Amino acid sequence: MEFEPVIGLEVHARIATKTKMFCRCDNAIFDAKPNTHVCEICMGFPGVLPLTNEEAVKKGIKAALALGCEIKEFSKFDRKSYFYPDLPKGFQISQYDRPISEHGKITITLKDGSTKVIRVMRLHLEDDAGKLTHVGDGTLVDYNRAGTPLMEIVSEADMNSVEEASAYARQIQRIVRYVGASDADMEKGMMRFDINVSLRPKGQTKFGTRTECKNLNSFRSLEKALGYEIVRQTKVLSEGGTVIQETLGWDDERGTTISQRSKEEAADYRYFPEPDIPPLVITKAMVEELRKEIPELPEAKAARYQSELGLPVTDSRQLAESMELSDYFEKAFKISKSPKKTANWVLVELMALLNAKNSAISDCKLSPENLGKMVSMIEEGAITGKIAKEIFPEVFECNMDPARLIEKKGIKVMGDSGELEKVCAEIVAKNPQSIADFKAGKERALGALVGQVMAATKGSANPKMVNEILRKKMSEL
Ligand SMILES: [Zn+2]
Repeated sequence: MEFEPVIGLEVHARIATKTKMFCRCDNAIFDAKPNTHVCEICMGFPGVLPLTNEEAVKKGIKAALALGCEIKEFSKFDRKSYFYPDLPKGFQISQYDRPISEHGKITITLKDGSTKVIRVMRLHLEDDAGKLTHVGDGTLVDYNRAGTPLMEIVSEADMNSVEEASAYARQIQRIVRYVGASDADMEKGMMRFDINVSLRPKGQTKFGTRTECKNLNSFRSLEKALGYEIVRQTKVLSEGGTVIQETLGWDDERGTTISQRSKEEAADYRYFPEPDIPPLVITKAMVEELRKEIPELPEAKAARYQSELGLPVTDSRQLAESMELSDYFEKAFKISKSPKKTANWVLVELMALLNAKNSAISDCKLSPENLGKMVSMIEEGAITGKIAKEIFPEVFECNMDPARLIEKKGIKVMGDSGELEKVCAEIVAKNPQSIADFKAGKERALGALVGQVMAATKGSANPKMVNEILRKKMSEL
């Protein structure tokens, strides 16, 4: 029997705020000394009162809007109780039955170019727990993360393959970054996933028994855990067994899921309205104000690059991958006026140098203006592509104006000079056969001659110009 996986994802993303969700502790906890970003509120001392962070609410709304969710005029916070040493209050403040937003959807694109709409059930706000580190036979606890603001984005079980789940998770990351709601940097623990997966015989509509795998902190572990779980459940069902509904952990070293506990039901958490925090009332006017701040999103941007600038699909998608990269491209393109060449220089040459230094576009010293200038110099024939590639590492390192660098280095470009005419004439004289071929309609013969001129000038000639001169010379013969 053939089985179909049914997958749902919960994404937890830390909201990019200055302070924590319900207190004034600094939210920049990465690399901080353990237990230094804490106070009475996030440590759950008796008698303290939490205060909702307005910035976190606004950024949560922006993310929800970008995910196509409806924002609820009324929502509230609830206590989700469980006992665990990383949770100093003894409960997490979350949103249970009245989340701030619901009913969104996003479009994902798969490797074969097809698209699929995945529904977003809800996005709600909550605070995070602390972090436990197991050392030898003891455990260390760091409460810096306790109380940091999170948005939990819950999908419907609309995905049917590892590829779809991975594409969905990546699209969520792009979107929350685009709107500035989260840095979603997984290496800094800012985003993690819980996956739900069940199998059912192909064609059946009823869901099978699902397992949940929690706290996956990279795309790689998401893909591996999901792949493993699908294979495991397929084996259980094929052998006539039943899948047990349970919560699993992922052992990255061994590459297996491990049973942690049987699945809790909502009642186990004893949800009840948080008595110390008033409900959230979000006016329509506030939503509309925030909607104005939503930038053009990656899907729309990539589509525009294709339709307006005529860029290929893959280039468009790559450029729209992050706001920083697309901003860089657009600034460079404003100067060069040549979208295809600019896209190529950004995605190939610039990326190669950035990758070699292991740095991101946000750390790029070369200004988009100087890159744009260089592309327009190539287009105008002021330098050849070959020379551009030679000087590019220096332009990149020192953020040099390419025109100044060419001047400084004394690089001569053979333009519409008598010299170039002379070289062309020589090549034409030496190749009577190519000329006959060209006259007989073989365009390829011209290419061969251009190549010879380029070789003779050591690549310093402008190929466009060489082309024109050769055509002219041959037509005169
Ligand atoms: Zn605090």
